[in-house]
Amino acid sequence: MNVPLLDLKRQYAQLEEEINEVALEVFREQRFILGPRVGHLENQIAEYCQCKYAVGVSSGTDAILVSLMAAGIGQGDFVLTTPYTFFATAGAIARVGARPIFVDIDRTTYNLTPSLVEEAIWGLRPAEREKVKAIIPVHLYGQCAEMEAITSIAEEHGLIVIEDAAQAIGAEYEFSDGKVMRAGSMGNYGCFSFFPSKNLGAFGDGGMVTTNDEIAYERLKSLRIHGAKPKYYHKIIGGNFRLDALQAAILAVKLRYLDQWTEGRQRNAQLYRRLFSQADLESRIGLPVEKEKRHIYNQFVIWVNNSRDELRDYLRQQGIGTEVYYPVPLHLQDCFDYLGYKRGDFPVAEEAAQKTLALPIFPELTKDEIQFIVKTIKGFFDGRGN
Ligand SMILES: *Cc1c(COP(=O)(O)O)cnc(C)c1O
Repeated sequence: MNVPLLDLKRQYAQLEEEINEVALEVFREQRFILGPRVGHLENQIAEYCQCKYAVGVSSGTDAILVSLMAAGIGQGDFVLTTPYTFFATAGAIARVGARPIFVDIDRTTYNLTPSLVEEAIWGLRPAEREKVKAIIPVHLYGQCAEMEAITSIAEEHGLIVIEDAAQAIGAEYEFSDGKVMRAGSMGNYGCFSFFPSKNLGAFGDGGMVTTNDEIAYERLKSLRIHGAKPKYYHKIIGGNFRLDALQAAILAVKLRYLDQWTEGRQRNAQLYRRLFSQADLESRIGLPVEKEKRHIYNQFVIWVNNSRDELRDYLRQQGIGTEVYYPVPLHLQDCFDYLGYKRGDFPVAEEAAQKTLALPIFPELTKDEIQFIVKTIKGFFDGRGN
């Protein structure tokens, strides 16, 4: 049996007619850049994410970049974030001229550890502490970071919060007073990606920034068109961070199915849990820990105590697709040598990079396929007998 990590063709097969229809409408309209279709999607996403405003942009990466620009983060500023995330999170910080300050993650959720964020801030000399301007928590794999603690640290130190919600559209977080909020609505800016492998994927690149602040909203809208306001008059320097009308039209169709797909992912996660517990593999692998309110399972990532790479090779031979998110934590990337970090600085992120493995979780996965995956993993460990 062949089970890919992700099979987008199955999703397209469900929506083919609807999507082809809107794509043809856009072709007939010949209006490709921004415009009413992007405006419509922005309203829909703002509502879905329970935010006042949303601004369509060219990618999740550009969503982070333009948020940093809108927040006025630049040369000489420090921005706290996790070393265990997709490169774009820290790449955007460096691109505006600021310095990423990495903080280690929690080993059960893979998200930032708030107490270590505090430690990192207090560990800086006072002159440097002044330079810390923002924090970018990442809601990794579809589960929210500990936003109550993070927003309270941000408040205490006067930091801007930019949520990297690229993997977490529709994920929820419950505060201790019982209030439930959606990813992207808790910080000053929420950044989303419509990269095809995300839960809401476009037919190409795309992204969105959410905010509740009207001034930020106006700045974002201007920054995505080179800082123009009005057209051809520039008080600030922006870039070309626009979302295509074609992507917006397709995304507006797909958004109507998002909750149903999320339920499919959650159902698959539950089936994995049941089968793994029956297979008696607790000593060999750790399953994702659902700590926050609504985990949307962009990824289903297991922790493999021993022989992760051998397991991955074995699964590949048996026709099962997996991925390692992420093999090199960001503080050890060559391009960040200049930051002066070394191996051992963030032990949990480093260990996660060596032990985690993402299994197929996409909504259209069948029960038989999940059974086959768990059986194959069981077979691998039984065969090794160690
Ligand atoms: C995908 C992703 C991004 C970047 O989004 P793109 O649309 O690919 O530019 C940023 N951060 C995280 C955590 C992501 O998963």
